Amino acid sequence: MAQINLDEIAHSYLPDVQKEDEYALKRIHNIWDDGGAYALLGPSGCGKTTLLNIISGLLKPSRGRVKFGDIDVTDLPPEKRNIAQVFQFPVLYDTMTVFNNLAFPLKNRGFDKAYIDKRVREVAEILELEPVLNKKAEGLGADAKQKISLGRGLVREDVAAILFDEPLTVIDPQLKWELRCKLKEIHEKLKLTLIYVTHDQVEALTFADKIIVMYEGWIVQIGTPQELFEYPNHKFVGYFIGSPGMNFVPCTMEGDMVKIGNARIPVDEKTAALASASEGKLEMGIRPLYLTLSCDPIEGGFETDVKGVEDQGSHRIVSLDFQGHTLKARIAENDPVPEAKAWISFPKEWIRLFADEHLLK
Ligand code: ADP
Ligand code: MG
Repeated sequence: MAQINLDEIAHSYLPDVQKEDEYALKRIHNIWDDGGAYALLGPSGCGKTTLLNIISGLLKPSRGRVKFGDIDVTDLPPEKRNIAQVFQFPVLYDTMTVFNNLAFPLKNRGFDKAYIDKRVREVAEILELEPVLNKKAEGLGADAKQKISLGRGLVREDVAAILFDEPLTVIDPQLKWELRCKLKEIHEKLKLTLIYVTHDQVEALTFADKIIVMYEGWIVQIGTPQELFEYPNHKFVGYFIGSPGMNFVPCTMEGDMVKIGNARIPVDEKTAALASASEGKLEMGIRPLYLTLSCDPIEGGFETDVKGVEDQGSHRIVSLDFQGHTLKARIAENDPVPEAKAWISFPKEWIRLFADEHLLK
């Protein structure tokens, strides 16, 4: 199908829009490559379903054009686009057998019986639905139903992209992982473009090559899990990815040092130059994983008060008071645990500076 080209898309559900905040999608201008496995990640209400429905054709954007490669599909209905959509709650015919549910999209398009039989069995094999092909859908569990729903997306060979809208929400967490692996396998085998909507970062990180992070109607970053972790473009990405999210502390510059309360923290020259030249509200960001923490004074370290320690199994999260701001540090399970005081330092390579919520780079 070539790329999905979102050309200056904006959408409002209101007929007569006055203000920017009346747009569910503010301005989306992106090209998504063919054959990619994408996760569309963001909190509830940020516009994920709206964007998905614009791509599938259920919704026409208030502004902008949707193109598949060079072909403008903005005015085409869903059935004229070679895209399948799997919804949060499986859409099935309960009284039909699993076989007939899977065969339905093909029967509708007038394929002959022999082809339908062959194709349904192929898809049933991929999804491990063969044992229940002759059972009625109504008697089956939520996971089997969602697999059928998935299968209905997969049976059409002309489908070039499948859109999933939080499809695993109703499924037992143990089975979720299995189904995600299945999806990845299907993606590699059939070379389809997959766009998988979720509000769960773990789901996004384990499924996708590229993650599209949405926030309040904007795409704030598209990147690999590592890019999002190490260079969050926007404060929201820093906070939303990672557990817990990135630490942020308001700061000012003093020469090439970051000043927080009485503390002066050295940063690299390039970052210092960018920060000194920027005019917005400045904040320093650092991941809990990258804070250096010691139970004893360390050279170039800062004294902090320990406010709490949370055991998370494979590691611990230490909450610290640093110059009146809370910082979280992540330490390994067998690292010494500080009591009242701890000393921290900020490795230069992991300090990120943000101006008005945007990464300086
Ligand atoms: P998400 O899928 O990320 O939870 P949605 O795309 O469903 O977000 O919603 C984005 C925004 O648009 C929300 O503020 C939501 O209330 C609004 N919205 C969604 N669908 C409709 C609709 N049919 N009519 C009016 N507003 C809607
Ligand atoms: Mg949604």
